[in-house]
Amino acid sequence: MSEKLDELINLVKEYSPNADFALIEKAYNYAKNAHYFQQRASGEPYIVHCYNTAKILTELKLDEATICAALLHDVLEDTLVAPEELKEEFGEEITTLVEGVTKINSYKFSDNITAQAENWRKMLLAVVKDTRVIIIKLADRLHNMRTIRYLSPDKQKEISLETLTLYTPFAHRLGIYKWKSELEDLIFEVLQPAKYKEIRSKWEARSESNLKNLELIQDQIKDTVEKMKVSYRILARPKNLYGIYKKMQRQEKPFSAIQDLFGMRIITDTQENCYAILSQIQTNFKILEGSFTDYIAVPKANMYQSLHITVVSDTGVIVEIQIRTEEMHRRAEYGIAAHWRYKAAFEKNAAANLKQTDINMEHHLEFIKHILESQKDVHDSNEFLTAIKTECNFDQIYVSTPKGDAIKLPDGATALDFAYAVHSDIGDKCMGVKVDGKLVPLDYKLKTGQKCEVLVRKNINPTENWLKIVITAQAKSRIRKYLREHNKKK
Ligand code: MN
Repeated sequence: MSEKLDELINLVKEYSPNADFALIEKAYNYAKNAHYFQQRASGEPYIVHCYNTAKILTELKLDEATICAALLHDVLEDTLVAPEELKEEFGEEITTLVEGVTKINSYKFSDNITAQAENWRKMLLAVVKDTRVIIIKLADRLHNMRTIRYLSPDKQKEISLETLTLYTPFAHRLGIYKWKSELEDLIFEVLQPAKYKEIRSKWEARSESNLKNLELIQDQIKDTVEKMKVSYRILARPKNLYGIYKKMQRQEKPFSAIQDLFGMRIITDTQENCYAILSQIQTNFKILEGSFTDYIAVPKANMYQSLHITVVSDTGVIVEIQIRTEEMHRRAEYGIAAHWRYKAAFEKNAAANLKQTDINMEHHLEFIKHILESQKDVHDSNEFLTAIKTECNFDQIYVSTPKGDAIKLPDGATALDFAYAVHSDIGDKCMGVKVDGKLVPLDYKLKTGQKCEVLVRKNINPTENWLKIVITAQAKSRIRKYLREHNKKK
């Protein structure tokens, strides 16, 4: 067995000891043979790319079908292998994933890429039913960006621009922030090499001058936590140069004025220990006034959880410290994708006939519910839960405006949801909706491919009843806003 294959299998074994390793081995060898006469621009055998794509996906602890599909992701496009053949060897699920990735590659947008980007992403979401396809494509792109220096300068620019407009938004939407910031830095280096170099050298200079102080604080923190006899590890915050650059532009500030370049993370096992560590830090360090935020009790909307507190060292260095559990850390780095559980764990379950996505979503929702139960307003919580369920549901429908603009809505969305998706003002004045030329009731459930046209009238206004008709969070909040303002005036 080759060294690389061995390494990959060990990575999968760590989170999924009962995976079908023979299948992974088969996929590896199959891809290796199919790409046998091909090389990467770096001169390496092509299989190195397939292997690295699969390896990146083990970070998300994805199931064996995804790992196999990652190994095989280029065989339909770049080799003589036919889909029927792949199906015979690896079955329906893996073949569908590989076909999905191949389908994405068939969309090429070289001209006016920025203008088309949003439509492209919408279409992709409608075409690709399985989110794993997009995640494989992201891992593929991440490895291509990591090895981009072997391509010609023109090609480097073209691929970087495409990655920035089309792919980083997906990483963001899926909450895979770790990949997103790495992609952004790689793109930044290609598209604005001078700026990149400048910020990088300033960052390094600043970090060097502060390094001693940071080390000092880190040692003090270690001493403090060590005494508590809890399990923990300390991480220095990874740099995202593009993020710093964007902040400089947004705030119109020079590099020297950007404050929060440095941070530390303390990762521990339980929520109780997060608070215990916090209280030790509060006792032993000088705290920047008003700097404490409890995102564990009150998570951010994207479900981010951590305790934030900023300490000031004896020498005046300011360091933000984030305290979180391992699970919170995974979620902060990998978002929704961090909650995908390995399939085998569920197969023993009585719920074996549930669709995989349903099961993932159940777990995801269970977690959200857990957060919400700790909050007071039950009515709002339930609504939030429904909203999250709707937003996270990857079964989307896809309808178009009379002009042919694509609009993506969650499955079950009504004609009134469409009106609000076009524009909130149009929603507020919606008298009726024509679907494929026929007038339908406002609670009509839309289907993919329908052409919808909103009829508006000035004297129409949202009513209480409309809240029962719409399912999207956007429409709900807009209607509620109108009702609130309107009731005030009375
Ligand atoms: Mn590839």
